[in-house]
Amino acid sequence: MIEIPKTMKAMVLTAYDRLAKMELPVPAPGHGEVLCRIHSVAICGSDPKMIHGGYANVNWPPYFPFVMGHEWAGEVVALGPGVTQFQVGDRVAGEAHKGCGICDNCKKGNYSVCLNYGRDGHDGNADMGHRHYGFAWQGANAEYNVYHVAAIHRIPDNVSYDVAAMCDTAGVAMHGIALSGITPGGTVVVIGPGPIGLCALQIAKGMGAGRVIMVGRGSKLAFAGKMGADVLIDFEKEDVVRRVLEETNGIGADEVLECSGANDSPMKACYMARKTGKIVLTANYRDDRPSFQLPLNTIVFNELKILGSKANPNVSGTVLNYFSNGIINGEALVTHRFPLEDYPKAVDLFENKRDNVIKVVINP
Ligand SMILES: [Zn+2]
Ligand SMILES: [Zn+2]
Repeated sequence: MIEIPKTMKAMVLTAYDRLAKMELPVPAPGHGEVLCRIHSVAICGSDPKMIHGGYANVNWPPYFPFVMGHEWAGEVVALGPGVTQFQVGDRVAGEAHKGCGICDNCKKGNYSVCLNYGRDGHDGNADMGHRHYGFAWQGANAEYNVYHVAAIHRIPDNVSYDVAAMCDTAGVAMHGIALSGITPGGTVVVIGPGPIGLCALQIAKGMGAGRVIMVGRGSKLAFAGKMGADVLIDFEKEDVVRRVLEETNGIGADEVLECSGANDSPMKACYMARKTGKIVLTANYRDDRPSFQLPLNTIVFNELKILGSKANPNVSGTVLNYFSNGIINGEALVTHRFPLEDYPKAVDLFENKRDNVIKVVINP
């Protein structure tokens, strides 16, 4: 038996741009849920944006004080009623999305776009069982949190908690690639050598891309070279579209994976894709900056497929295996670790890209 305390340390968003360490009650697992001791939480690009109020329009967080954190790994320490799939002591990694399971989209496996989104009972609405941990429902920036069994996955023995916490990061890349497919022997362009882009690069290689061209700048672009990118294009120094066309004999790339979140990148991606090419948008874009018109006739005449990709449904097992068998080098991506009390410092370092940061992990 693992002894579970009544209260726990948590890092709480008390208002936009206000973080405080608080003592909160340890939540109790309900039917189909488990209580997890959180070992590692990775900071996502969406976290600083939420802290600053950048998701107020979609109601993230839905209330204050709120515990964020959605890229996590830990250990099952207590089972709720009806749980048979997991045992106390299991090492698990989490997903942010847990769909209602009964709507049309969930039934087709598309639970990150659940039609009962937000129907989690928190504001007095009927609880349809939907959870969006760390965004619309209490997250992992704490010593403990409760998760539905549908949102957790066993971690292979040779994968550390810190790496497994990137199940979400790598899963976002994997879901985008699952939508587009990878042309065996073909050319993939990855725009944005951040954590998602670096995972996309390694997954694309693992799935048989002949060549991966990475677009970025500075130390992260150089790092992408170390992680296996075949061609590096610095967008500050070169015309990216022209260079991609040169590299592909004027034909363009089979797949373009947009992982940067720069508002002009989707438009450029249309010009660097081959006829019938696929463009996947995995990033979040800035609503407060101008959008760039997509070249509509290029899309029509070249039969481009532009795919929006949200979160990481149905890919956690795959990416945990990729960490385990080395297709994704997870250890290389975790550059910084902090205790929970230093979360504000960690967010600052991550957000302002100090000290060649790639991925920051908090150990509560
Ligand atoms: Zn994330
Ligand atoms: Zn649903």
